[in-house]
Amino acid sequence: MRLRAGLRVLRRTATEVQVGTDPRWAVRLPDLAPAEADLLQAVDTRTDLTRVADLMAGRDVDPDRVRALVDALTDARLTTGGPQRAVLRGPAAVDAAVWSLLRADGDGDRLVRARADRAVAVLGLGPTGLGIAVGLAAAGVGTLLVDDERPVRSTDVGPCGYRWADAGSVREHVTARLLRDVAPHVSTSSDRPPDVVVLVEDDVADPGRGPVLVAGGIVHLGVVVREADTVVGPFVVPGTGPCLRCLDLHRADADPSWPTMVAQLHDGGIADEPGPVAAVCAGLGTAAVLAHLDRAPGLLPGATFEVSLPDVVPRRRTWAVHPECGCTALPASLVGAPG
Ligand SMILES: [Zn+2]
Repeated sequence: MRLRAGLRVLRRTATEVQVGTDPRWAVRLPDLAPAEADLLQAVDTRTDLTRVADLMAGRDVDPDRVRALVDALTDARLTTGGPQRAVLRGPAAVDAAVWSLLRADGDGDRLVRARADRAVAVLGLGPTGLGIAVGLAAAGVGTLLVDDERPVRSTDVGPCGYRWADAGSVREHVTARLLRDVAPHVSTSSDRPPDVVVLVEDDVADPGRGPVLVAGGIVHLGVVVREADTVVGPFVVPGTGPCLRCLDLHRADADPSWPTMVAQLHDGGIADEPGPVAAVCAGLGTAAVLAHLDRAPGLLPGATFEVSLPDVVPRRRTWAVHPECGCTALPASLVGAPG
């Protein structure tokens, strides 16, 4: 039995030790004898807690008291005593450590390992799309289907992964290489439909794409890179909340010229993505998809986040189902959920 990965052990006073720093799981152990506090402070995630009492034999510490302190840590779900499995490595291990502290069963490893059986398609591989694909691969998603035959531009170079040497190469080829760089076992082909489709579009969402996905019961995340900002969301689980067409109908209600402008905006132009905006949106998009795959709380239905320079602080909006869309009238059999 060991302390869970990532936990810090801190001395608060001569007689009090705190394990963990996040208020969601940290515990304080007060009223300790100085020798007990010294002992706890020496514990780290490599220490075998079942042997601590034995190791302290002959010292000024009561073994029963030590066992009670270890029990207190176990009750707080800060220890792990499960069977030793092949250790997750790299960024997936970081996710697993956090989930081990958040989940009631403490098994973050199992949650992260399950991602290996998931497939996500990312259509549109500008910096944000690339960042989402790489983020998902690094988090352990087993299959990434990427699609964008346009070339990498010099303006795509930045923190999400494209380099100067990539300029002129096909985006999906460079992306596939970068995916393997962070996740050597990732697959970039699959015979089955993806669990989630991420649509990263320029200027405006293609009015024809969303309804097709909704009709097919395919879970999808909309991302639109616009003139001055990027919008992440909504995360559409067909039948359970507003879809991309709902948003367009609301915009048309507010501006009768919106459909005319959509037709002009949807002309195949490529929007530029400032590096900090793309980095934030890549993180938001990655987390939204992982939440769905993990069956964890994620983006609420109808939530969108607008991110722009200079502060790149996401601004949240919440959209309602549009009464004229009809997208929530789907039969239950088409309502998507991870299989
Ligand atoms: Zn709709």
